[in-house]
Amino acid sequence: MKVIVIGGVAAGMSAAARLRRLDEKADIIVLERGPYVSFANCGLPYHIGGVIADRQQLLLQTPASLKAMLNLDVRTGHEAVSIARDRKIIAVRELAADRVYELTYDKLVLCPGAQPLRPPLPGLEHPAIMVLRNVPDMDAIKKVVDAGARRAVVIGGGYIGLEMAESLRERGLSVDLVEMQPQLLPPLDPEMTWPLEEHARHEGVTLHLGTAAAAFHDAGGAVVTELQNGTRITADLVIFSAGVKPDVALAKAAGLELGPRGGLKVDEYLRTSDPDIYAAGDAVETPHRALSGSWLIPLAGPANRQGRLVGDNLAGRALAWKGSLGTSIVKVFAMTAGGTGANEKTLQRDKVPYQKVYLHPGHHAGYYPGATTLHLKVLFAPDTGKLLGAQVVGHDGVDKRIDVLATAMAAGLTVYDLQDLELAYAPPYGSAKDPVNMAGFVASNILKGDLKVWQAEDFPARTAGGVMVDVRGKPAYDAGHVPGALHMPMAALRSRLPELPTNQPIFVHCKVGFTSYLAARVIAQSGREVYSLSGGYDTFQAWHRGHLDEKEEKLPLENRG
Ligand code: FAD
Repeated sequence: MKVIVIGGVAAGMSAAARLRRLDEKADIIVLERGPYVSFANCGLPYHIGGVIADRQQLLLQTPASLKAMLNLDVRTGHEAVSIARDRKIIAVRELAADRVYELTYDKLVLCPGAQPLRPPLPGLEHPAIMVLRNVPDMDAIKKVVDAGARRAVVIGGGYIGLEMAESLRERGLSVDLVEMQPQLLPPLDPEMTWPLEEHARHEGVTLHLGTAAAAFHDAGGAVVTELQNGTRITADLVIFSAGVKPDVALAKAAGLELGPRGGLKVDEYLRTSDPDIYAAGDAVETPHRALSGSWLIPLAGPANRQGRLVGDNLAGRALAWKGSLGTSIVKVFAMTAGGTGANEKTLQRDKVPYQKVYLHPGHHAGYYPGATTLHLKVLFAPDTGKLLGAQVVGHDGVDKRIDVLATAMAAGLTVYDLQDLELAYAPPYGSAKDPVNMAGFVASNILKGDLKVWQAEDFPARTAGGVMVDVRGKPAYDAGHVPGALHMPMAALRSRLPELPTNQPIFVHCKVGFTSYLAARVIAQSGREVYSLSGGYDTFQAWHRGHLDEKEEKLPLENRG
C-alpha cells in the first residue's frame, strides 16, 4: 500500500507514525512544504519570549530521524499542488529546485492545517505586520524583537494573541492588544474573562476591547495601527493573530466536499467524500460532543489524535472519531484560563436549554498557605443535569479542574455525578470537597429544588419586584453591594426574619454564593420565596462591569468581600 500524507506537523506526522507502527510494509511518503516537520508550533511564542531559550527544543524530528526511527520518506520543501483523483496521482512542487513531479497513491491523507485569517485591511502588507504559524514566522518575529523593537501591537485576544502579548512583555516591549469582541478570549463567556483582563492590564498590556483594526499606515518603517474607534497606535511590530481558517484550497480544487463551516467534510472514520482520501486536523470539520452540527476545532490535541486514528484506519481498523469538546487552556502571565464543551453564548445561539452555576472557591484548602481563587462556571441541562460546558479561570489549579470536567463531559456525566467524584486531596492540592464536587453540589441543589438561584443578569428587570438583601458583614456591604440591597448579615438573619416581607420574592446575595445559600435555606423554611445569587457579588460585578456606579466598582476582584 502506498500512502501519501500531505502536511508534516501535528495530524500528518501522527498519521504517518501510527501507520508505520501498525504496518512495516506500507510505503509512506510525507510531503511538507515548509522547511521543518513535526515541530512544536504550540511552543513558538515561548521561544520569542525567551522562556524556551534553545530553538532546537522546538524541532522535535528531522526527515533523517524519521527515516531512521520509522522508515518514513519525509520530504520538506515539497508542496502538493494538485490531486488527480481519477488517476490517483498528485503533482508535487519541489520548492528549492522549482520542479514539479508526480506521485501515485493508493491512499492519501490530507493534513494541511489552517491559514491565518488576513482580512482585506488597507496597509496589511506592511513588512512590520507579522503572523505566527510556523518556525520561519517565529524566526522573523524574533529577529525584529532581538533587533530592539520597543513597541508592539497584537491584533486578536485569542490564545495565540495572549501568548504573544505575554511573550513580548517578557522581552520588555510595550504591548497594545486589540480585540474586536468586548472581551479577551472569545471562546469563554465575557463575565469569566474579567479577571484576566484586569491581570493583563496589571502586567502592562494596554487593552483595546470592542474595537478592531481598520487600517495600517507606514510611519518611517514603523507601523501605525488605526482602530475603528479612531485610536492610532504606533509600533515597531504588529502581530496579526485574528484567528485561522481551514486550508482547503488543494482539497477544494480536487472536488472534495466541504462542510457548512468551510472545512473539509469527513465521515466518522475521517474519510473525505473520496473514500481513498482521509483528512485530519485543523482543516476538517467534525462533530462537537456538546453541540449539534459540525465544527472547526483548531487545536493540537484533536489534530494529533485524529491523525493517529487515521493511521489506525489506514491499517485496516475501523475506528470512529467521537467528536471534540474544544477543551483548551492558556497561560495569561500568572493566570490561567480553560474551557471545555459549549459556552453560554453558543448555547443561546443554538437555542439549547441550559442552567448554570458560578463558584469562586480556593484552589486548595484555605488554611494551607498560598490558596488563590478559582472562578468556575458550569453549564448543564436543566432536565437531566448532563454537563454541557465548563470554564475555569484562576492562578493555580485551573488545569486539573478543567481536565476533570472535560473527562466528565466525555463520559457523559451529569452534575449529580460530579458530587461523587473521588478526587485526590491533601491541603496543598485541593479541598476535601474539591471545587468540582462543589459545582456538583450546588447544581444538584438547584435541580432538586433545595436552592433557587437568581443570576447576575436578572438584575434589575427580574429582581425589581422583590427585596434585595446582602447577608455579608458590614465592611463588605460598605465596600459595594447590589444596588438597593438591605444589609442583613447572616449572623442576625434568624432574629431579623420578621423584617422580611412574606408577599414578595427575596433576592439574597453574599460574596460568592455560599453564605447566601445558607441564608436562602433559612428564609425558605420560614415559608418565604427566596433566591440566592449564583456566584455572589463577585459574579455580579464581573457581569455588570462598567455599568455600575464607581462606588460599586472600586475594589479589584481578588480583594473583595
Ligand atoms: P499543522 O500542524 O499546522 O500542519 C499543517 C502542515 O501542512 C503545515 O506545516 C503546512 O506547511 C503543511 N501543508 C499545507 N498544505 C500543504 C501542501 N499543499 N503540501 C505540503 N505541505 C502542506 N493548539 C493547542 O491545542 N494548544 C496550544 O497551546 C496551541 N498553541 C499554538 C500556538 C501557535 C503559535 C500556533 C500556530 C498554533 C497553536 N495551536 C495550539 C494550534 C495547533 O498547533 C494546531 O491545532 C495543530 O498544529 C493543527 O495540526 P494540523 O496537522 O492540522 O496542522
